[in-house]
Amino acid sequence: MPSLLSWLLPFTCILCGQRSDRSQDLCQGCWDALPHWHDGCPRCANPLRHAPANTLCGACQTKPPPFRHTFALFFYRAPIVHLITQLKFQHAFIHARVLAEHMREKILTDWYRNTPLPSAILPVPLHPSRQRSRGFNQTVELARHLGLPILVESCQRRKPTRPQTDLKGAARRANLRDAFVLDERFIQRYQGRSIAVLDDVITTGNTVRVLCELLTRHNIGPIDVWCCARQG
Ligand SMILES: [Zn+2]
Ligand SMILES: [Zn+2]
Repeated sequence: MPSLLSWLLPFTCILCGQRSDRSQDLCQGCWDALPHWHDGCPRCANPLRHAPANTLCGACQTKPPPFRHTFALFFYRAPIVHLITQLKFQHAFIHARVLAEHMREKILTDWYRNTPLPSAILPVPLHPSRQRSRGFNQTVELARHLGLPILVESCQRRKPTRPQTDLKGAARRANLRDAFVLDERFIQRYQGRSIAVLDDVITTGNTVRVLCELLTRHNIGPIDVWCCARQG
C-alpha cells in the first residue's frame, strides 16, 4: 500500500538511482535484469539442471525433507548479493522493504494462489550475540512487510554457529546440531498449524532443514520454506 509520502515523492530505484515509473523503488530495467528464480525442485528449490521443471530432485525423492515446499525469489547472484549485503552490514532497510514487496506479490499471486496462506512466519533467528552486534535480524526486517504474524520470540539460536560457508558436509551438520531451541508456548500454540520458515539466503539448505526437523518433531506444520535468494 503506497504511503502518503510515496504520493509526494517519486519512486527512486535502489539499484541505479534513477526515477522509477513502477510504483516501487526499483525501475523496470533493473527489475528485468534481476536473477529471478526459476526451475527449481518444488520441494527444496535445488536447481534442476537436467530435469523438467516441477520434478522432485534426486535428494528429495530419496529422503523427503521436513517441509512441503521451498519458494525462492532470486538466485543468490549480483545484484541481489549486493542488496542483501548492504541490508545486513549498512542498515539499508529500504532493500528489505523492496525485496519483501516483491515477495508479498509472489505469495499472493503465485505461491499461494490456490492454497491458504500459512498462519505465521518464523524468521530464522540469529544467535543473540550476532543479533546484538548487528542490531537487528535482516530476515525479521524482510518479514515485517509480508502482512502475516511474525514469530520472533518463538525460537532461539542457542550456540553461536560458525559461518556455514566456512565448513563442509559433516562439519556443517555437527555445527548445526542442537542449534535451535523452541519456546514451549509456541509449541503448544502451533502444533498442527501451518507456518512459513523465512530466511534471507539459503546456501546448502542445512540450516533451514535442521530447524524444520526440530519443528516437525514437535508436530508443528505443515511447514513451507521461503527465501529471498537461493544459491544455485
Ligand atoms: Zn534502476
Ligand atoms: Zn529437492
